[in-house]
Amino acid sequence: MRKTTTARAKRARSQPSNHAEWSSGDFVGTEEFEKSLEDFPTPDLSDYADIGWDTPAERIAWEEHVQLLRECREHFEETAHRHPRLFPREPAGHRKSVFSTNGYVGSPGESLTWNIAREESCFKKHDGVRIASPLCYKLCYVDRLERGRPGLAPKSRRNAKIRALPNFPRIFVGAWEYESLHRWREPSLIRLHSAGDFDSVPYLADFVEIAQMLPDVRFLAFTRCWRWKHLHAAVRQLAAQPNVFLHLSYDSTSGSPPAIPGAWTTPLLEKNDVPPPLRPTDCRAFRTRLVYEPPLKSVRDGRLRTIVCPQKSGAGDGDLSCLACGACLKRPPEGPAV
Ligand code: SF4
Repeated sequence: MRKTTTARAKRARSQPSNHAEWSSGDFVGTEEFEKSLEDFPTPDLSDYADIGWDTPAERIAWEEHVQLLRECREHFEETAHRHPRLFPREPAGHRKSVFSTNGYVGSPGESLTWNIAREESCFKKHDGVRIASPLCYKLCYVDRLERGRPGLAPKSRRNAKIRALPNFPRIFVGAWEYESLHRWREPSLIRLHSAGDFDSVPYLADFVEIAQMLPDVRFLAFTRCWRWKHLHAAVRQLAAQPNVFLHLSYDSTSGSPPAIPGAWTTPLLEKNDVPPPLRPTDCRAFRTRLVYEPPLKSVRDGRLRTIVCPQKSGAGDGDLSCLACGACLKRPPEGPAV
């Protein structure tokens, strides 16, 4: 059902429709375009009438999905209108994206990244424990990312406020729809938190709702939020979503993550670390900053074998994206928790 729906959505969007003018760049920056941004195009279900449906139930499900996306877009537009500082416009008229792009994850048309400020999430402490482990805190790569892209830090700070707005899941889904209409064509992978992390039960629950509203989008997240025990039940719910690929990151200073069905455990190794004994839940891909001489490409431990992330080991010639690699975009094997 999900694949069929996506294929049909794409075919439907490529059909000539009453709203064909939206594909034209001529309107950008014009008064007409400004006006039409406020008055979002509403997909007309008659556009889809000539698409064959296997069953009436499938058609009804699709219509409900279109209706949901329409409501989310409208909610996004209304919210953006009410909070212009959180959703500023670019000179050409579009809203600035709440998402970023990251070549390591995938090409911009295929993937987006959602970030929030570190100070508002992974650097916070609860009962004296920070979500970021001491090693993660020390090595944090976000400074380097933000130095190279000056717009990134303000966007992460805005997003930290946006997620606190009422009905955040609908805003998020509406923002994804906005991207699909105005910039990219239905990005199919969203990397959560190149900067930031999950830091509360409601925020984790929001992403359960988002993943259910966007069943054809895959979500990839590496998290140390498991260091806060009161989040475990919510993490479990998020990991159970079939389109969420959740990695409980750990390192030599973080302690050991719990075994949560549906989530990988993914070690980050630093120079001179000895690879830990593998666990059945360890992701096929270590995330490592380690530069072994010669580069370590894989680790074997008895019957278990895992690869070192090719982006870090150099096996991918430095330009292999997550979408192309796909090692972290698989469901963990089902079986007894360890
Ligand atoms: S192993 Fe592959 S999918 Fe995982 S982080 Fe590295 S490049 Fe991305």
